[in-house]
Amino acid sequence: MTLLNTPANQTLPAEPFVGQMLINGRFVEAMAGKRDTRFSPAHQIAVGSYPQAQAADVDLAVKAARTAFDAGIWSEITAAERADVLLKVADLILRDLETLALQESLESGKPLVQARDEVKGTTNLWRYAAALARTLHGESYNTLGKDMLGVVLKQPIGVVAMITPWNFPLWILCQKLPFALAAGCTAVIKPSELTSGTTVMLGKLLQEAGVPDGVVNIVTGLGPDAGQPLVEHEGVDMITFTGSTRVGRAIAEVGGRQLKKVALELGGKNPQIIFPDCDWDAAVDAVVFGVYFNAGECCNSGSRILVHEAIAEQFTAAVIDKAKSVAVGDPLHPDCKVGAIVSEAQMNGILSHIDAARKAGAEVRLGGKRLPSGQGYYLEPTIITGVSPEMPVAKEEVFGPVLAVLTFKDVKDAIQLANSTCYGLSAAVWSKDMDVCLETARAIKAGTIWVNTFLDGYAELPFGGFGDSGLGRELGKSAVEDFTETKTVQLHIGPRRHWWLPK
Ligand code: NDP
Repeated sequence: MTLLNTPANQTLPAEPFVGQMLINGRFVEAMAGKRDTRFSPAHQIAVGSYPQAQAADVDLAVKAARTAFDAGIWSEITAAERADVLLKVADLILRDLETLALQESLESGKPLVQARDEVKGTTNLWRYAAALARTLHGESYNTLGKDMLGVVLKQPIGVVAMITPWNFPLWILCQKLPFALAAGCTAVIKPSELTSGTTVMLGKLLQEAGVPDGVVNIVTGLGPDAGQPLVEHEGVDMITFTGSTRVGRAIAEVGGRQLKKVALELGGKNPQIIFPDCDWDAAVDAVVFGVYFNAGECCNSGSRILVHEAIAEQFTAAVIDKAKSVAVGDPLHPDCKVGAIVSEAQMNGILSHIDAARKAGAEVRLGGKRLPSGQGYYLEPTIITGVSPEMPVAKEEVFGPVLAVLTFKDVKDAIQLANSTCYGLSAAVWSKDMDVCLETARAIKAGTIWVNTFLDGYAELPFGGFGDSGLGRELGKSAVEDFTETKTVQLHIGPRRHWWLPK
């Protein structure tokens, strides 16, 4: 396999983007004055430099968000006014699409073409949130008797801490922030230290769109130094987190101790189930797309396929054939489909998973190695067969371009295998028999089931996981309501019957 090189007409940035934290409407350095540089995983050049926040910086950011919330400068304006600002943010993201996409690609290693689609796609989330802002409402009960009217109010929950990962930095933030803002909340965001650029750039756009000072605050830096003090801060009312199950569990513990609302979007080991009567070409393509999209660094990655034993060998051969042709290399190349792995540590972690699979007796039928490159962290698209359900590669999230192939005998067997990991984020079923599709879709314990397709997503449809894949849902019609508290107001009409009347 040969690597795509940097296109001749593409110039790499001569200087890194120098970002600052956004606290109370001002772009600032960390109080301790520390900064860290992000090097592109594809080229090893400096592409970003960000302050390294610590607890004292986080404290200022949360206090700013708290003050802004309590002052009502955002929570008490009309939903129509909030919606106007959200729509303006969408327009500004589109205006700056190229700058945002390039930064996203340089920091994450994902193909620039894909980053453009993602940045453009986020505008749809801002527009959907704007629509939901104006339809948020409570309930009224006119059925409680002549002297009582019950009103249920939805009020913004308050200050929301948002902690985001490196795989879809802007996209994942936009699954959270516009909806929290639509509800009237204020926020403190801590992006991944590896990919803070587009979050900081969005901060500028929020200001330009008219988000008042203190409503959105951004702290940059490391998880333990900046993320942990944020989730533990007593001024935070709700935490929404996307990332690893390990950190998600630790955050849930903080939420449990402090009785804060917690929403978690965590990992997955998502199966695509292939029945013999499927549309063969479509299924082969979706398997290749499902596992190599974003270099497999995707919570929804279709990282295992369950293939009916009658077609297993032939189907796997077709997948291997197609996988061989997938273009890997410089994310800035227009043909690139699989870019660089986000970091050396992540790449080494993926290689250890492959090694462990080999040692457990599985066969690496395609790839399995680092692709030789002067600078970048590139891995060959990898396919592992002879995988049995108890092997780690069948159960654990690899978060890289690695497909595990398992086989099944019948529908019951397929369902049992699909449900045999601790995760439950998503799955796909491939068959022309709708009875089989429905039976399987109903029985799989996962938040999203695709039938004869993979990885489609819509703002209208809720997203989230069962089991170790998380808590709660993002998107969908309750995406704004998720950032509210419910308050019951009971209105008495006319004279109230006394409890005690002295004789
Ligand atoms: P983490 O869960 O460690 O990081 C996600 C976010 O949480 C980052 O912003 C991180 O900061 C922050 N964080 C880390 N520790 C804490 C803490 N104690 N308190 C609060 N915030 C914290 O994921 P990694 O980036 O380390 O990736 C490791 C693995 O997680 C991957 O291999 C993959 O399996 C999984 N993952 C899943 C994702 C998903 O979409 N479900 C996304 C990313 C990763 P910082 O980056 O600065 O350390």
